[in-house]
Amino acid sequence: MDIIVIEDLWKVYKNGIEALRGISLRVREGEVFSFLGPNGAGKTTTIKILSCILKPTKGKVTVAGYEVPKDCKKIREIVSVVPQEFQGFSDLTVRENIQYFAKLYKVNNVDDVIEELGLKEHQNKKFGELSGGLKRRVAIACGIIGNPKLIYLDEPTVGLDPKSRRSIWEIVKSLKDKGITVFLATHYLDEAEKLSDRVAVIYKGKIVKLSTPSELVDEF
Ligand code: ADP
Ligand code: ADP
Repeated sequence: MDIIVIEDLWKVYKNGIEALRGISLRVREGEVFSFLGPNGAGKTTTIKILSCILKPTKGKVTVAGYEVPKDCKKIREIVSVVPQEFQGFSDLTVRENIQYFAKLYKVNNVDDVIEELGLKEHQNKKFGELSGGLKRRVAIACGIIGNPKLIYLDEPTVGLDPKSRRSIWEIVKSLKDKGITVFLATHYLDEAEKLSDRVAVIYKGKIVKLSTPSELVDEF
């Protein structure tokens, strides 16, 4: 089944910038789908529309069969976004940050998620004092605590050292193993290659290629 269907989606911002110029794509349930493109290509705009933060200018978008923007209340219950700039509470601990999101979603799986993301030994550290890699792990923890069916990761490894990047990649694989569909926006070819089942390449608001990672790498 296709969990995301996008047909001829346009987004024109108020200042006239055409961030998306008629993109179409389908994401299958359970896959890791990478959205690969340079800064400014339209990746974040797409994620914002898919997660009901922004309205499309034109086009058809459905998530799990629900229509954007009409069924956004329903969509918000099954999707989760890990934004590029996750703002944790600096003065709260890792655990308290995750607890905050647990309360929001009315769930009580804080310990499971801490364990799952390898945050046990870091749970009592202040969020503001963490390294970039750990902050990113907390961001993903807060993203999965509500048990989403579909998660959007926006540039999850930007600015991280190689070891932290690999640890995030392992987490992405474990999300897929749990059956969560992952929509991964990235400008790193190696990341798209290693993690995804399929890749769409976006450039200046248009999809220029849709392929498997190995086909893509052969071309570059
Ligand atoms: P990416 O995530 O691939 O870096 P974005 O979706 O953030 O790309 O941006 C796509 C284009 O839309 C860029 O030209 C960007 O400057 C522009 N843009 C993004 N957000 C806004 C906004 N709120 N208002 C106007 N233009 C925007
Ligand atoms: P991204 O996360 O895609 O790199 P940026 O960091 O460029 O986005 O943008 C940060 C914020 O500014 C976002 O909320 C985005 O919507 C907005 N923004 C980005 N580009 C523009 C633009 N050209 N005009 C107005 N707002 C913008």
